[in-house]
Amino acid sequence: MPSKSRKEKKNPGSDEEYEIPDNRHNFDKIWGILGEEYPDSKPALNYGNPLELLVATVLSAQCTDVQVNRVTENLFKKYRTVEDYANADLRELEEDIYSTGFYKNKAKNIKAAAGLILERHNGGVPDTMEELVTLPGVGRKTANIVLSRGFGVIEGIAVDTHVKRLSGRMGFTNNSDPVKIEQDLITLAPKKDLDSLSITLILHGRKVCTARKPKCSECVVNRLCPSSIIFMDL
Ligand code: SF4
Repeated sequence: MPSKSRKEKKNPGSDEEYEIPDNRHNFDKIWGILGEEYPDSKPALNYGNPLELLVATVLSAQCTDVQVNRVTENLFKKYRTVEDYANADLRELEEDIYSTGFYKNKAKNIKAAAGLILERHNGGVPDTMEELVTLPGVGRKTANIVLSRGFGVIEGIAVDTHVKRLSGRMGFTNNSDPVKIEQDLITLAPKKDLDSLSITLILHGRKVCTARKPKCSECVVNRLCPSSIIFMDL
């Protein structure tokens, strides 16, 4: 277990209250253990093609995968092509995705992205990072997901709130900017593992290393995690 002397106050009251020591040397061991703990880490969103994956990923912002799947079950029957989204009545699309939250922005972005896909990409979802991030509502996180799961192209790693939190707690990065965290993780994991690393960290973040009160005593990597001593103390 890491020693208590490593604990330092930083920003009281937040997860950044403590300065986590560099623990990159333990990445391989931790990744090996987590890989065994979550052997079937698969994406939780339902989709049948890159367009549906893009839409589902945009909808998943600030929404659970379960709720997105509930909504897309009907949405994907109603909107089958890029044209369907591009020509959609905005108000109607908003209603169709209402329960995923932030529905006005999401509907606007999906409709505008579909329009650009038609205009610039001949109706096909682009398969490069450079092109994907020019679409409204698509940042590196969404683009990484679409590239890896829609096209089998591993460019980087999708950094969501769980990946960000766990990477910091485990001492793999001291950055808070998702783009910098992505760059830090890319140097640690083999490229082929980046997508499953993201999914695994998300699963561990939901189940054990939760934002509030992480269950360090039950955590399979607590002996290697520099934050265990901090949270077990609280
Ligand atoms: S649950 Fe605790 S020991 Fe496990 S990764 Fe999170 S902070 Fe580290």
